[in-house]
Amino acid sequence: MFTALPDTDLFMPACFRDPRYSPAEGKWKTKDGLTRICAPVLPNCTPCPHRAQCISQVAPHARKFDGVCGGRIWLDGEVIVTADGVDEEDLPLPGKARDTCGTTAGVDKHHVFGEQKCEGCRAVAEATAEQQPAEAEGQLTLAFAA
Ligand code: SF4
Ligand SMILES: [Zn+2]
Repeated sequence: MFTALPDTDLFMPACFRDPRYSPAEGKWKTKDGLTRICAPVLPNCTPCPHRAQCISQVAPHARKFDGVCGGRIWLDGEVIVTADGVDEEDLPLPGKARDTCGTTAGVDKHHVFGEQKCEGCRAVAEATAEQQPAEAEGQLTLAFAA
């Protein structure tokens, strides 16, 4: 069975060999099916001190991992859900810049591939985050005016 963490004597967290973290292929068929099994245990990653090590040992993106690893649910090596209260510091640094880097599509790619943002994408993400409260405020004012 494919497990959340490789068999290693480096560390054996409580989730090791727990099938809810790495459900056997016959137990689910779709993204929703995988999420249904994994979502209940995902919050256990938030206080876990091993998140970064977990991601670096499992290498979920490169291995096309399905299941819970390092505070994320991965499907075919891509992040589909992120636990509350985790940040991208657990994630590996990005590789070579992509054509989309420096755009919102580039930001999304870093997120989905489970890697930190490059400098250009970080600037885009910060600018978008600053814009959002102002937009939300504007919408509220319009809603009241209507
Ligand atoms: S981060 Fe999550 S999957 Fe990884 S060792 Fe901790 S609890 Fe287990
Ligand atoms: Zn980028």
